[in-house]
Amino acid sequence: MLEAASALGLPAQLVGEPIAQIGSQDMGWPQWQALHAACLAAYADPSIAGIIITHGTDTAEETALLLDLTLPAGKPVVLVGAMRPADAVGSDGLRNLANGVRVASDVQAAGRGVMVVMGDAVFAAVDVRKAATANIDAFKGFPRASLARVTPSSLTWFGPPHRAEEAAIGRARYDWPKALPRVAILTAGAGMDAEPVKALLGIGCKGIVLAGMGQGNAPSVVLDALEAAAKAGVPVVRSARVDEGMVDRNVEVDDDARGFVAARALGPAKARVLLMVLLANGISDARAVQAAFDGV
Ligand code: GLU
Repeated sequence: MLEAASALGLPAQLVGEPIAQIGSQDMGWPQWQALHAACLAAYADPSIAGIIITHGTDTAEETALLLDLTLPAGKPVVLVGAMRPADAVGSDGLRNLANGVRVASDVQAAGRGVMVVMGDAVFAAVDVRKAATANIDAFKGFPRASLARVTPSSLTWFGPPHRAEEAAIGRARYDWPKALPRVAILTAGAGMDAEPVKALLGIGCKGIVLAGMGQGNAPSVVLDALEAAAKAGVPVVRSARVDEGMVDRNVEVDDDARGFVAARALGPAKARVLLMVLLANGISDARAVQAAFDGV
């Protein structure tokens, strides 16, 4: 891939470092640690202008947000993937890599944190999600649809870097965790009872993300069990199982009374990543967790 991308005459010299050759459904703590360490090393190397990570698409949003929360925002970090295998007709892998090179080597790419480049669009890590199981336009952004349009020969940003001030400070938002606590996603379904909540607490979950109906809702018995968990010190974040939209505080569920956190624009997978990072950084109080979700 590097040779093929280098042969395209793009405005960058590429050097590669293998981290893992796995389906991204198997990404986890060991791979994330190795990837974060490699990013820090590349970050500190003045000869490297930008970092491109080739990554499976299934968990790209999780790795992107984890790195976004734990790397400084100065040097561009770009995740690229492929929805079609390299040997498929119309494979998008090399194009996405070429687009990633275009983005990572652009002077205006700094100060935007980690980005995902797929389907000729540039997404911020906090916005991006895999929204379809197939096709090259499977990735979507919310609440910002995208930061830029890109092709191997053009790049159009839609606004200035949104994390420029932070980039100037040069610090990551959160410390790299020493370990990741167990945080589970509980998907709500009509007619379910509270037993799954008890089961999650029984296996020692340190936090629960509700992938709720509509605006992060669940049957009353489930909300009651989650309230008990929250009041016993296990943070509960309400996100939505629907594809897109905000989950705001106290709209239909009384978050103030129940001690819940509203995930705002983050879907369940990204809400879980943020909650793991917060807990690993010693942040578990519902107000502080809410402030982090409000500010991400
Ligand atoms: N399960 C694969 C992965 O996420 C999907 C194919 C791909 O995106 O490369 O790694």
